[in-house]
Amino acid sequence: MSVVAVVGAGPAGIRSVETLLAHGVRPVWIDEAPRAGGQIYRRPPPNFQRSADALYGFEAQKAQRLHRAADAAATQADFRPSSLVWDIAGGALHIADANGSQAVPFEAAILATGATDRIIPLPGWTLPGVYSLGGAQTVLKAQAVAIGRRCLFFGTGPLLYLVAYQYAKAGAKIAAVLDTGSAAGRRRVLPSLLANSPALAKGLFYLAWLRSHGVKIESGIEPLAVLGKAQAEGLRFRNAAGATREIEADAVAFGYGLRSETQLADLAGCRFAFDAIDRQWLPEKDAVGRALGSANIYLAGDGAGITGADAAEAAGERAALALLSDRGKAVSAERCQALERRLAKLRSFREGLAEAFPFPAHLARRIGDETILCRCEAVSAGSLRAAIGGIDAHDVNRAKAYSRVGMGRCQGRLCGLAAAEVLSAALNRDIAGVGRLRGQPPVKPLPVEAL
Ligand SMILES: Cc1cc2nc3c(=O)[nH]c(=O)nc-3n(C[C@H](O)[C@H](O)[C@H](O)COP(=O)(O)OP(=O)(O)OC[C@H]3O[C@@H](n4cnc5c(N)ncnc54)[C@H](O)[C@@H]3O)c2cc1C
Repeated sequence: MSVVAVVGAGPAGIRSVETLLAHGVRPVWIDEAPRAGGQIYRRPPPNFQRSADALYGFEAQKAQRLHRAADAAATQADFRPSSLVWDIAGGALHIADANGSQAVPFEAAILATGATDRIIPLPGWTLPGVYSLGGAQTVLKAQAVAIGRRCLFFGTGPLLYLVAYQYAKAGAKIAAVLDTGSAAGRRRVLPSLLANSPALAKGLFYLAWLRSHGVKIESGIEPLAVLGKAQAEGLRFRNAAGATREIEADAVAFGYGLRSETQLADLAGCRFAFDAIDRQWLPEKDAVGRALGSANIYLAGDGAGITGADAAEAAGERAALALLSDRGKAVSAERCQALERRLAKLRSFREGLAEAFPFPAHLARRIGDETILCRCEAVSAGSLRAAIGGIDAHDVNRAKAYSRVGMGRCQGRLCGLAAAEVLSAALNRDIAGVGRLRGQPPVKPLPVEAL
């Protein structure tokens, strides 16, 4: 079989590669991280000594199983860690690593690129000492350092409580955990969700643990501004009763769930559709992971919609089996059906999360005019609103051309979804109606010398 490539060494990518190898196919396997594991099972450098229990808590056994599978697969595949795929064009992956940039032609590729935090800009969010929740967790997992001595976490989603819990367990002082979701709303949906989404039970444990250790937790809040002039010094917020409050902290982390990393699928020519649950345009795929609109591309894991790590493993294996059978290899029909049943069951996770931790779109839609929306290009929400006044900018790409929002180093990965919310509110259009920022290479910053 000609060259098969897998991008991503998280749960989805690891199971894809393992499955390809088990069927006699040796893929090129690329990840920008130095070690396989992905986001949830991210590994510290080999000389670091934190135990799996300390790093992964309830998921320690799963993490160790997956790491063993990854290490075994890495010795057999053409594994290329610390390598960024920055473009897909002309039937090749364009990769930058320590030696520069090279093109890897491929016949078929599985994209398992995962997700990143979803943020809503607010005054002060560009100050030093402000992190995304995922970023705060990454430094703790990968480097065993905390973002501060007295940390405040806000936003919503399972990561909010998990990261606060991990920080507290690691010895950091938690100034507060402030959730934009309402506790009453969550209580209403929880009983039915718990039956389908055991992951939510872990969330309840983290919440109970934090409470029992005296951590201040509030729901139904509205964040107003990160305090501080040269460095984050805390948060001003409106509490559920409508009173304005301030809490001091020397570091702040926030996030509102996750967004799929879709740029490579876009560059590969995949078809996209708006997903109301993820509130994002996603590459379309069939039930087994074949991308629609691009014959040789397969999609697995959170990069094609947020479904969690267990679903990512199953989707990675199922996409690899689809790729193999499309290329004439015999695969087990029974295994395929079992995986499809598992994926159908796990899909409820995604719906459960959206119900338990609703994305506060109203906050994104009314970001203040003075607030920096796109930090790479220093575009405020007001400049975006002004730029579209009187011109025919009905989608985010046109708005980008006029305002430079999303035109900087992050290519809109951080600000793009918030910009779409601001635009849709300003134009009084449905969020799906303002479209999405098109993927542009390089998908992440590159040293010029790599080119
Ligand atoms: C920061 C963060 C922390 C998280 N922590 C937790 C947690 O503690 N518990 C939990 O249940 N869930 C967590 N999640 C959610 C969890 O990541 C996913 O459910 C799960 O890891 C999805 O697996 P995946 O294989 O689809 O993607 P991932 O695990 O995200 O793996 C994707 C891989 O693709 C690589 N990649 C992406 N783009 C490129 C590119 N262009 N070139 C090369 N490599 C690329 C990345 O480096 C990464 O290793 C977290 C998510 C994020 C974003």
